[in-house]
Amino acid sequence: MKQKLFLAVALIGCIVFSACTSSAPHPKYVFLFIGDGMGLAHVTLTEDYIAAKNGVHGSGSVSFTQFPITGLVTTYSANTLVTCSSAAATALSTGHKTNNNMMGIAPDSITHFASLTYPLHRAGYKIGVATSVSIDHATPGAFYATSLSRSNYYEIATQAASTGFDFFAGSGFIYPKGKNKDQADIYEQLETAGYRIVRGPEGAAQLAGDAGKIVLVQAESEKEHRRLPYAIDRKEGDLTLPQITQAAIKTLYNPDGFFALIEGGQIDWAAHANDGAAVIHETIDFSEAVKIAMDFYRQHPDETLILVTADHETGGLSLGRDGKYAVHPLAFDGQQRSLESEPTDEKAVFVQEINSNAFCAWPTKGHTGTMVPVYAIGAGSERFSGKLDNTDIPKRIAELMGVEFSGLK
Ligand SMILES: [Zn+2]
Repeated sequence: MKQKLFLAVALIGCIVFSACTSSAPHPKYVFLFIGDGMGLAHVTLTEDYIAAKNGVHGSGSVSFTQFPITGLVTTYSANTLVTCSSAAATALSTGHKTNNNMMGIAPDSITHFASLTYPLHRAGYKIGVATSVSIDHATPGAFYATSLSRSNYYEIATQAASTGFDFFAGSGFIYPKGKNKDQADIYEQLETAGYRIVRGPEGAAQLAGDAGKIVLVQAESEKEHRRLPYAIDRKEGDLTLPQITQAAIKTLYNPDGFFALIEGGQIDWAAHANDGAAVIHETIDFSEAVKIAMDFYRQHPDETLILVTADHETGGLSLGRDGKYAVHPLAFDGQQRSLESEPTDEKAVFVQEINSNAFCAWPTKGHTGTMVPVYAIGAGSERFSGKLDNTDIPKRIAELMGVEFSGLK
C-alpha cells in the first residue's frame, strides 16, 4: 500500500514537474539595467525627494521599485569585499569573479572569461550595450571586452568592432585615436565593420527598425567624450539615457529576441563626488529610462524580462546624520547644478552644506561593500528573488534565454 501510494505521488509529481518545465518562462527580450553605485539609500533618498516634491512625507516612487520581485545581491570581488565597477561588471557579465581593476580576465591574469552577450549573440539574439558614460568604461566594457586593466580604454574600445553586436551607445569613446592620438580611429574601425555612427538626439530619433548595426554617441560638436551631461546639468539638445533606451529598442527589436545592457553610469560618479542633488537627479533619469523598457514590456508581457540592479554601492550614503532623526530632501533643491560642473573649493563647501542641511552624510568618496537591490518584472522574474550573488545574475539570464553559458572563452 505504501509503495502504491509512493508511486502515485511520484506520478503526480512527474506530471506536475513536466507541466512546470514545459511552461517554464522563456523571455526573449531581456533588459539588464545597472545603476552604477546605486545602493538602497540612493533609491530611498530619491523616493523621499519625489514624495516631498508632491507635498507628502515618506516614499514616492521611482519606476522600478514597483516591480513585483526584489532580491538582494552580494557584490564582493575576488580579492576584496569592496568591489570596483570592472570586477563587478565582470561578475554580472561572465558569472565569474575577478580582482578589482581587471575586466573579463581571471585573477591569474591568464584565463579569459567571456560575457554572456557572446553565446546569446551566437544563438541569434540581437545585442545592445548602452551607457550614460563612455562605451569603453568599466561596466559596458565588461559586456564585450576583456583587459588586464579597466583603464586601457583604447584597448577596450578596439574590441567593439569585431563583436558583431547590434547596438552600442553612450557618450563616445575616451581615446578614439588612442591616448597619444596616433592610433587607428575607433569610429573608422566600427564603420569598416559595418556600423553606422549616429549622433545626438536627432540621430537617435531617426532610427528605424531596419537601422542595421548602430553606434549612437553624442553630437559631434560635443568635446566631452567621457560622459553625457549629468541630468541636473542638462541642456536642450543633450543626448539622454531615456533617448538611448528608446533607440536601443528600435534597433534591437526583432522576432528572435534581444539582450540589452543599459547602464546609468553617473549615479556612481555623483556619489563619488558626494553630490546628493546630482545623485537624486541621475536616479530619476535612470528611472525614466526604465520606464521606456516598461512600455515595451506592456506590449510583450509574456516574452520580456526587465532586471534593474547595481554593481555596488557608492559613498556609504547615510540618510540621517549627527544623531538627528530626520532627512530634509528638499534641501537639495538649493543646488541647481552638479559640483563637477563648477569644481571650485567654494562649490565643494556649498555642496557639503547642502548635504548637512538635508541631514545626509557620506563617510567615503569610494565604494562600499553592502548588498545592493535587484528588481525584476516579467518572464522568469521570480528567479531573482531572495539573496543572490552578482555571479548568479548572468547564469540565470542565460538559462532563462535557453543558452548554454560557462562564462569562459
Ligand atoms: Zn565608482
